[in-house]
Amino acid sequence: MCEKKKFTMIDENFICEVCGNEVIKLNYTARDHCNHCLCSKHLDINPGDRQSLCKGILEPVSIEKGNKDKYKIVYKCKTCEMIKRNVMADDDNFEKMLEIMKNNSI
Ligand SMILES: [Zn+2]
Ligand SMILES: [Zn+2]
Repeated sequence: MCEKKKFTMIDENFICEVCGNEVIKLNYTARDHCNHCLCSKHLDINPGDRQSLCKGILEPVSIEKGNKDKYKIVYKCKTCEMIKRNVMADDDNFEKMLEIMKNNSI
C-alpha cells in the first residue's frame, strides 16, 4: 500500500455554525470555511483529517497575500488560540475580507 498522505480532501456542503449560512461545496478544492462570514472550525490537525479534539470556532483575524494573487485568511481559534491559515475561495465574501484587512487584530 502507498504511504498515507497528510492532506485529505474533504469537500462537502455544511451549515455554518457562526452565521447559519448554507455553504455549498466548491468542487475544485476542499471547502474549509464559510464564504459568508469566513469563519472556520478547528477540526483538523493535518488538513482534512478531522482529528482535532478542539472543535473551536476559527475566527478570521487577518488576510495575507500568498502566491499567484491568492489570498490567505489567517485564523485564530477561539478555544485554544491556535493560528491557522486557509486559502480564500473564489466566492468568499469580499466585503468581509476588506473588513478583516482593516481590523487586522492579530
Ligand atoms: Zn458563516
Ligand atoms: Zn482550537
